[in-house]
Amino acid sequence: MDVRAGEKPLAWQSQPVNDEGPTYALAKDVTARNESEPALRESERRYRLLAENATDMIGQWDPQARIVYLSGASRALLGYAPEALIGRDGYELIHPEDVAAVTAAHESLLRGAERARVVSRLRRRDGRWVWTESVARMLLDAEGRQAGIQFATRDITESKRQMDALQQAEERLRHAEAESRRARDAAERANRAKSAFLARMSHELRTPLNAIMGFAQLLELDDLTAEQRESAARIVGGGRHLIEVINDVLDISRIEAGEMAIELAPIDVGATVDAVVGLVAPLAAERRMLVRIDLDAQHAHACADGHRLKQVLLNVVSNAIKYGPAGSEVLVRTVADGERVRVSVTDAGPGIAPHEAARIFEPFERLERDAATEGTGLGLALSRNLVGAMGGEIGVRPAGDGSEFWVELQAAGAAPTPVAQERAPTRESELAGTLLYVEDTPSNAAFMRRLLRDAPGVELTVACDGASGLAAARDHGPDAIVLDMALPDIDGLAVLERLKGDPASATIPVIAVSADVAPEREAAVLEAGAVAYVQKPIEVDRFTRLLTSVMTRPPQPDA
Ligand code: ADP
Repeated sequence: MDVRAGEKPLAWQSQPVNDEGPTYALAKDVTARNESEPALRESERRYRLLAENATDMIGQWDPQARIVYLSGASRALLGYAPEALIGRDGYELIHPEDVAAVTAAHESLLRGAERARVVSRLRRRDGRWVWTESVARMLLDAEGRQAGIQFATRDITESKRQMDALQQAEERLRHAEAESRRARDAAERANRAKSAFLARMSHELRTPLNAIMGFAQLLELDDLTAEQRESAARIVGGGRHLIEVINDVLDISRIEAGEMAIELAPIDVGATVDAVVGLVAPLAAERRMLVRIDLDAQHAHACADGHRLKQVLLNVVSNAIKYGPAGSEVLVRTVADGERVRVSVTDAGPGIAPHEAARIFEPFERLERDAATEGTGLGLALSRNLVGAMGGEIGVRPAGDGSEFWVELQAAGAAPTPVAQERAPTRESELAGTLLYVEDTPSNAAFMRRLLRDAPGVELTVACDGASGLAAARDHGPDAIVLDMALPDIDGLAVLERLKGDPASATIPVIAVSADVAPEREAAVLEAGAVAYVQKPIEVDRFTRLLTSVMTRPPQPDA
């Protein structure tokens, strides 16, 4: 606007008050605004230059959502030159399903939001839809009134496609997880139903059986003929057998349903063997057999449940006596290599053919040749379940004419075997070193063993209670310790404090693992010096990264 000397530039605004009344007009001196116009124009020029060179499409709507400006990037994004779109309704190109999202963003700006972000599809000139993301802000004029909307829009078709694929994959994964959870729940329900049924049935069987056994034994006290005595003895013998079957079946189903409490502690294996051999002495004497004990590992302790280990060994040793020839010898040996403790029972019996070896560990499976020998066919099945629940293994192999049944368990606070010379040289920096895991639950120990199977550089030692954990830390100085916070003998926090208080173990990084999600507990554990507090269930990836951060060997040259 040209302004001559003595004149003032005025801006007019007029509005009728109502239909009949006068029209009021307002004039405003806009000298200041006009004087700043060249500067404004210059800044607008610079802005346009910037906008034209941006890869994002920059644009502007007037307050009626009409397009008043678009940068040249509209050609690449929409296939239109800016001039083709200027003056058109900004909503025209928006996909009908996305209009609501754009409207919401628009309204939020009208309500005063500083900026709004919206994802929407825009129709290209060739009719295809392009996924875009726009960031918009409100433009204000010199008086602070809303003057339009400025936006930057970019093509996100490719990243949207990738995100969608990721989402679909996640959805499928969630679906599969839900499926497997459902299957597992169903299996658990079925297992619980089976256990409940067995518990109920065993109760129902036991009650009349008590009467049968009681009265048969009373009968034996009576003045009986030899024939009657034999009949009574048969009733008692049959009853005992039935009770054994009921107990074993119940035990097996309890283990399978995860209802049998197995408490691991360091158990003196030699002492257990002595006790078992004492218990079978009458059976051995009856069959004129000698049971020899060879304790190679005198004071070896295994991670085991004392009561259940005795049950397993009792079964295996009495089998050796039952199935070995009368007058022969049975040898019970213990061997420990620092990591595992092995008990083997060798007999001079008929032996087990390799193809029968798996079968005899199944419930009710007996070899035909032994039909005449008293037995239920449940002892080895139960033993296998019990040993498995203790994190160990059981098996059989030929030994001379007879067989050797063996039971192997994790040594308690076992010394890591020297591995430096055996370990394959690692090509790159990887998880390696000695790791002590203090954990009493066998399934968790098994989980860790499985987790570290792919890390051959890690030497894992499991200690099954706080005391043996402390001893192992002191004696072997592992590179790192994973400490379960709920241990049977000493509270995990107390174990941690003792580890940190002992100069021999103070500097070993300790990762605490706990099912306790209370922030105070976590704070106390970290305060006591743990490098991390990991909540159960352990998330494998994160845990492995954590472990790698505390125990990584520098790369070694190729051998
Ligand atoms: P049970 O002894 O009550 O039959 P087990 O489950 O303990 O049940 O054993 C299953 C079967 O394995 C036995 O019936 C027998 O045929 C075979 N068996 C077990 N121990 C021995 C052994 N030491 N020598 C030969 N056969 C054996």
